[in-house]
Parts: sequence; C-alpha cells; structure tokens
Amino acid sequence: MFFQKTIRKSIEVRGIGIHSGEPCTLKFKPAPANTGVYFIRADLPGRPFLKVSSNHVQAVSYQTVLGGEHFKVATIEHCVSSLSALRIDNVYIELNGPEIPICDGSSLYFSRALLAAELIELDEPRKYCYITEPISYSEGDKHAYVLPYHGLRVAVTIDFPHPAIGHQTLDLEITEQSFAREISAARTFGFLKDVEQLKASGLAKGGSLDNCIVLDDHKVLNSEGLRYKDEFVRHKVLDALGDLVTLEMPLMGHLILHKAGHDIMNKLVKKIVAQPQSYRFVELGADVSTEIKKFSTWTMQEIS
Ligand SMILES: [Zn+2]
Repeated sequence: MFFQKTIRKSIEVRGIGIHSGEPCTLKFKPAPANTGVYFIRADLPGRPFLKVSSNHVQAVSYQTVLGGEHFKVATIEHCVSSLSALRIDNVYIELNGPEIPICDGSSLYFSRALLAAELIELDEPRKYCYITEPISYSEGDKHAYVLPYHGLRVAVTIDFPHPAIGHQTLDLEITEQSFAREISAARTFGFLKDVEQLKASGLAKGGSLDNCIVLDDHKVLNSEGLRYKDEFVRHKVLDALGDLVTLEMPLMGHLILHKAGHDIMNKLVKKIVAQPQSYRFVELGADVSTEIKKFSTWTMQEIS
C-alpha cells in the first residue's frame, strides 16, 4: 500500500520573485493526511490561505498565479513541481510576500529543501486519479492530452523558431529518481527581445542571468551555457508537473503536451476534474518498496 506523505519538519527557502523582484521567504511546514497543498500569506492580516487547485488559478501567461478574493501567490509552478515529483501529498507553504522565490530558475532548491526536511508517511493511503479514457484540450496548434497509463509519464514537444531551441521533444516516466536526474535542474528561459515589454507589464523585474536562461536572437547569453542540451523542453516537463498539482490528486496517466503552456494545462486539468466518468480513484498495493519498481508490480484496488 502507498501512503500519503508529508515532511517531518519545517524548512525555509529564501530568494526574490522573478516577476515582482520582491524578496520573499518561503517555509514548508508539515500537514496532516487529506490536507492537500496550501499557501498561507503570513505577511497579510488574518494570514489568508488558499488551496492549490485549478479553480484558484487566476493568471497563466508567463507564470501560474493562484488567487483568492484579496490576495495572490505568484509563480507557484517550480515549487509545487518538486512536491509532485517527490509525491508529497500534504504540506503548508507559508510566505511573507506575493511571489515564490525564483532561486536558480529551476526546482532544485525546493527539492533539496524538501528532502532535507525528510519525507514521512502518514496513516492514510494515497488515492490516485487513474485515467480510464483519453481526455484532450486543444487551441489552434496547441494540444494537451492525457491517456490511460499505469504510472505517471509526461511527454512534451516544443517548437520555437530560434537557432538555440528549435524542435525538442521528451517523453519520460516520472519517478523521484528520473525527476532528480533529468528534470529538477532545468531552468526557466526568456528572450531578450521580450524583456522590455515584460517589464512594462510589471513582469520580469527580478529576472537575471542568475535565475533564467536568456536568449538573444541567435544564442544563449548565460556564460555557463546550458545544463542539458535540451534544457528548454526539460523545463516544460518541470512546469507541467507543477501545474498537475492543481488537479489536487496524484495523476496516473500519460500526459502529452504539444506547444502547450500553463494556460492550456489549466484548461486540461479543469476538463479532467469536470469529467469524473473518465477517471477512477485507486489505491496502490505492491510488494516492493522502491519507487522505480512500484508501477511495474502494482496491483490496483478500486475504491470508487
Ligand atoms: Zn517554469
């Protein structure tokens, strides 16, 4: 049986927001079973809180923003991507500002902090959202699909008319190990020609070569180069895993994205939620404990 997880102790991550430029301290805190993932704005009167849910996603152009009636939490995707990959079901994320720290532009710092806080199992079994029939969402040439699959697998294709990017595709079985090895360190990226426009819209104020891959019309400008030859598509896998947390239940399925960003992911997640006939809740039992082997030996017990 696979049980829900949280962290053993609280831990902090500090930095600035890539869009706001504001300093922010984030604190991961343990949460009981069946809580889910909550953001708490500790800097605001009454400490308002908000669950990570597709219904609370407000803005999705260059980032995923969660919003309540009176407050927002911006750029959540890299932080919650680590939760998705590490299978952390329940956690409180306390903030003293409006935007999650960007750190190095990847999810590396969040993953390291969560592992340092130690993952622990709770008494309740984890309920997976097991996709039983294909669900899709398309807009023009942007497509998102989720297909039945006995595990979590993410395939992303991107196509940028830029000599350093071009057509990139990656199809990966997501485990804690594959995420750590292939995805977690992949950084966000942006184009120099967009910077002025982004800044005029109040975005990218904290962006720099320290927290973003920046490209001019021809090449990558970061002196250290890329961490992977295809770092761009790997970062899109990281973003997609983050956006999957808004489903509020761990996915068992094959997610396939073609030129689809945060906006298309949000619409796909809402479509999954609206189609309960296309998935079932399942618990997993297995006689091995390693993450890699579990999906090849699992037995499925339908509970609804
Ligand atoms: Zn991103």
